[in-house]
Amino acid sequence: MRTRFAPSPTGPLHLGHAYSAMLAHDMARAEGGDFLLRIEDIDQSRARPEWEELIFEDLAWLGIIWDGPVLRQSDRMDAYEAALTSLWRQGLLYPCTCTRRDIAEAASAPQEGAPLLGPDGVIYPGTCRPGWVVPPEMDLPRDVALRLDMGQAVARAFDHRVGKAGAERVAEFEETGHGPNGERGIMEIDARHMTREVGDVVLARRDMGTSYHLSVVLDDAAQGITHVIRGEDLFEATAIHVTLQRLLNLPTPIYHHHRLIRDEAGKRLAKRDDARAIRLYRDEGASPEDIRRMVGL
Ligand code: GLU
Repeated sequence: MRTRFAPSPTGPLHLGHAYSAMLAHDMARAEGGDFLLRIEDIDQSRARPEWEELIFEDLAWLGIIWDGPVLRQSDRMDAYEAALTSLWRQGLLYPCTCTRRDIAEAASAPQEGAPLLGPDGVIYPGTCRPGWVVPPEMDLPRDVALRLDMGQAVARAFDHRVGKAGAERVAEFEETGHGPNGERGIMEIDARHMTREVGDVVLARRDMGTSYHLSVVLDDAAQGITHVIRGEDLFEATAIHVTLQRLLNLPTPIYHHHRLIRDEAGKRLAKRDDARAIRLYRDEGASPEDIRRMVGL
């Protein structure tokens, strides 16, 4: 068993991060497995070395020891580009020049009804999707967002059989924790759900040359992660990750989504919840055991 903790160095770790890290760490250690650390710093406009330093300090203070070297996403741009090139050559990507505003306007045009929301926000209405297949000799475009043609992707990557919801193409993953609605067990992903309720997600952002979805899938495979343990807010993104694993011939790990740590008002903690920063508890003299108790471990 090999798990990981994958924080973004864009703010202080708070109680929710501590819970996620301790849970993944404890589960790996209970099985005699490995626990790895990955710094998700593809958003260079928000990542800061001092936040990364604080992550190391907070984890060490919590008693979390990671195995092997830390993987930093900003060192992996070549791997991301190679995967994008492969998807591009298969005709599965297309350049998109829409702004957020263009998308919001197209998605809320009167004939469209209320805009549908997917895991990445408003579902892309397909404005830039070409009616042609990219010629294989054409180079991967740069400085433009690249979207996955989800219809082509599921047609290529999903199994040909009728699923429970009636779709002719399905894929699966195993959930050993739970999704936000108690989803658990073998999860069936329906091709129709992917095209209608997820849509053509961005795999390379114009300003980044990659995306959360692409990087996380490639890195989990590169680090040999067998069990992805993370918050239930990422449950819906898992279907995108499984689709990418199939397109890129990567194994699908077991997923274990966990409950989110909330404040007194029931709102999930975010990076701006500095009041729950591990750093502050440390400074106030709390012990790692206190933190464990606070998050219910
Ligand atoms: N970097 C993500 C975060 O900080 C976690 C990604 C994942 O666990 O898949 O929320």
